[in-house]
Amino acid sequence: MAVYTLPDLPYDYSALEPALTGQIMELHHDKHHAAYVKGANDTLDQIAEAGETAGPVVTVGLEKTLAFNLSGHILHSIFWKNLSPDGGDRPDGELADAITEHFGSFEAFAKRLSSATTGVQGSGWGVLGFEPVSGRLIIEQLYDHHGNVGQGSIPLLVFDAWEHAYYLQYHNVRPDYVSRLWSRVNWADVATRYQAARTSAQASLLVP
Ligand code: FE
Repeated sequence: MAVYTLPDLPYDYSALEPALTGQIMELHHDKHHAAYVKGANDTLDQIAEAGETAGPVVTVGLEKTLAFNLSGHILHSIFWKNLSPDGGDRPDGELADAITEHFGSFEAFAKRLSSATTGVQGSGWGVLGFEPVSGRLIIEQLYDHHGNVGQGSIPLLVFDAWEHAYYLQYHNVRPDYVSRLWSRVNWADVATRYQAARTSAQASLLVP
């Protein structure tokens, strides 16, 4: 039985227009995200089969393939919920306070996350994460779905910088796509993830 399943989009394909077209959202969710889900399940099967053969268990490469597909599944699952037809504006409450504390201002934070996203070489993501050991908010720049990641950090807001996320609409102008994404950010979802990350950091014993 499949371990991972494709979650439904929490809104219609066209709900994020004009920031993102329905065509992009349908392909992105139904084809790309679905492929990562299938890839993660298939790789788990291959690892299990390798363990059933006689002799040493050879899974070289399979762990990397699993990390790629599983991370792709997790990041897209977060990405859909990070966005909303009613998104935009700015966060408030404790998340807003933490952004000001760790980045100086909302403007400085937005500039850094935009820069991290637009500056990805090739395919990757710009990420606002919670680093549990220090309790800081951090900006990360992921390569593919799983490279350049600090261990333990928890993604709160993720911007997909793969060409499949924007090319049909924005062509080669990734900065325009990123600037429009801000108009769809679901800050209530990001704030919920921030509170959950703080709680799980204590549970994981990473916090001194
Ligand atoms: Fe994507």
